[in-house]
Amino acid sequence: MERCVGVEWELEKVLQRFRSYGESLDRSLETLLVSVKQLREELCSHALQGVPLSPALSLMMSQRCHKIRETVQKLASDHKDMHSSVSRVGKAIDRNFEAEVCAVVADGMWEATEKQQLLHSAIMEHLYQQGHLAVAEELSQESALNIDTSFKQPFLEMNRILEALQARDLRPALEWAISNRQGLQELNSSLEFRLHRLHFINLLSGGPNMQIEALTYARQFQPFAKLHQQDIQVIMGSLVYLQHGIENSPYSYLLDTEQWTDISEQFTRDACCLLGLSVESPLSVGFASGCVALPVLMNIKAVIEQRQYTGVWTHKDELPIEIDLGRKSGYHSVFACPILRQQTSDSNPPIKLVCGHVISRDALNKLINGGKLKCPYCPMEQNPADGKRIIF
Ligand SMILES: [Zn+2]
Repeated sequence: MERCVGVEWELEKVLQRFRSYGESLDRSLETLLVSVKQLREELCSHALQGVPLSPALSLMMSQRCHKIRETVQKLASDHKDMHSSVSRVGKAIDRNFEAEVCAVVADGMWEATEKQQLLHSAIMEHLYQQGHLAVAEELSQESALNIDTSFKQPFLEMNRILEALQARDLRPALEWAISNRQGLQELNSSLEFRLHRLHFINLLSGGPNMQIEALTYARQFQPFAKLHQQDIQVIMGSLVYLQHGIENSPYSYLLDTEQWTDISEQFTRDACCLLGLSVESPLSVGFASGCVALPVLMNIKAVIEQRQYTGVWTHKDELPIEIDLGRKSGYHSVFACPILRQQTSDSNPPIKLVCGHVISRDALNKLINGGKLKCPYCPMEQNPADGKRIIF
């Protein structure tokens, strides 16, 4: 962040210079125009009267021409001076940001067509998730990716509902919640109740005229009476203040506009969960993780190069150090072989022995002696072929 501030500071200086240059440019041009106009009028009157140019007027003319040349030169040199400020911004960007990040990425990482397709699909999924449907369609055509409609459908529907929520229209969200009631109940979601509640509050904000309608709508709360009893009591209590306006009552917080943001967030969360989508697109998760990991990896790379430890990190499928991205980014369990002290991988998967201990396949192969395996943790002897691969 402080790097951005560093660049912004330089940028602000340039903008300031541009502004003051613009102002002085306007002023100078304005003065010149006025004097040229005056001169023109005098010349015209001389021409009309058929009087030859007086020496005083010729002197004035040459003075004005001189002034014009001078001003233009000054403006040009001031403009030139600004180049140094502009180039300082470029230098600040170079100083504060790493231009060369490919050093920490394996060569040819994205060269294979299959990898590029994966990248394009990730970008497209992100665009769909963010609601940029037209851009996603364009990318789909340009990258010749055939995305079937079943992939797009959930995003299209979600975006339609979210757009309606932004426009304060609860209907599509309510219809969705009602038709997905069972799934939402299994998730222990309060979405449907909260949508009804918001609709009710909306009616209340209409004032005393809406009282009958609000009371009629209150019947919708009946299926939720047990689970949300207290909430229902609170909103029904607010009816007492309907005559004087809820906004002037202790219940004014019910009209808080933040509830619309909250309901959109809850809808996104629950809908993604129900549709088997991640709330954040894989691309944004990858990008956020990269922002954390990249500086660390760049430092490690620099240290490795400085000390000339070549071959320590070959970019294969493992990072040279562990990077903590926080619990939020923990998606898969990992297993490190206790014998080889290495993280297991597809080519060296974890194997559960008959006795229940787990080691990696490479470790197992190393421990085989005369066709038999003796567990390194308990003395149980067993047939190596009886070990079973574990998938985390
Ligand atoms: Zn064992």
